[in-house]
Amino acid sequence: MTDSIRIPDDLKPVDGRFGSGPSKVRPEGVEALSRVAKTFMGTSHRQKAVKEQVARLRRGIGEFFSIPDGYEVIISNGGTSAFWETATFGLIRDRAQFAEFGEFGAKFVKAVKDAPFLGEPTVHKAPGGSAAYLTAEAGVDAYASVHNETSTGVAVQVKRVAGADPGALLLTDATSGGGSLEVDLTETDVYYLAPQKAFGSDGGLWIALMSPAAIERAHEIKASGRYIPQFLDLVTAIEQSRLEQTYNTPALATVFLAAEQVDWMNAQGGLGWAAKRSAESAAAIYGWADRSAVATPFVTDPTLRSNAVATIDFADGVDAAALAKVLRANGIVDTEPYRKLGRNQLRVALYPTVDPADVEALTRCIDYVVERL
Ligand SMILES: *Cc1c(COP(=O)(O)O)cnc(C)c1O
Repeated sequence: MTDSIRIPDDLKPVDGRFGSGPSKVRPEGVEALSRVAKTFMGTSHRQKAVKEQVARLRRGIGEFFSIPDGYEVIISNGGTSAFWETATFGLIRDRAQFAEFGEFGAKFVKAVKDAPFLGEPTVHKAPGGSAAYLTAEAGVDAYASVHNETSTGVAVQVKRVAGADPGALLLTDATSGGGSLEVDLTETDVYYLAPQKAFGSDGGLWIALMSPAAIERAHEIKASGRYIPQFLDLVTAIEQSRLEQTYNTPALATVFLAAEQVDWMNAQGGLGWAAKRSAESAAAIYGWADRSAVATPFVTDPTLRSNAVATIDFADGVDAAALAKVLRANGIVDTEPYRKLGRNQLRVALYPTVDPADVEALTRCIDYVVERL
């Protein structure tokens, strides 16, 4: 039966990609990439053509986030998952404290718990749909939280921990929040992300905006003689980034698409523009859910509802998995919920690349399908 539901074209979004990562890549970016098909793609990452794109990306990210004095944009390979391991080896002296409120936060916790050279971390945990918070604790040298928990659609403010030991670092996973949500970087030491979310590029890189204290910590730990695998050596990443390079070969297309996208976002008005556009998309989908008889925002506290990723629960009578399947058959893709959350839900990315008018159109398509399921 679901196979026969055809959504009329005039209801459909112009672009049907609503995935939380990999997310919508602007066709203009891919076209720009095709224009450098013979001059950039397939050329050495140690030469000028590629180093210029790395420089463009680092400069663009710095401009976008109004990078404070002394902070640096560091990039390397392996995406955010590699950054967690890099931070485990290179930023945590001994004891970390985590605010864990979803699957992504939990992965960093696991990396640190498994490290035999670190003390047992403190973990403040909250169930999916709510938030956990950091609290001052003597002896903790690194605090870690998540700006936007992509698995649940909960966003929190980036704020230093009042009363933390002097010199304690704050590490913020901004993989999906960065670029969609307002942030003041002086409130954190490391704001790290990967470009396949709000920055509408492809995966494989991590990008970390690091404070002077964080850079100093990386050097201090390396000097201590701790064993650090070469690929995860943060000091190497810092040194290579300063040379507009990466330790090993990066995905050139990812670098180019990210640089292209950041330039586009800066030209639109930077973070202020981006956050406003995501907020508009969020107002569209949460407003629709509030009015709907069958849909409700999963995150009950409106102040925690993310403007980067929306999670919408459906009433028992509506099979969200079937709904996502019909949408997919109609070219509207990746609205399925985070698999481990296990809810009767749709998840929709609201990154600045997504047009708020397309989010409006999506809500109309959902209504259309629900009536016919
Ligand atoms: C996607 C995501 C990650 C994982 O990023 P990878 O580049 O795939 O390793 C980590 N944290 C958050 C919050 C994410 O959304």
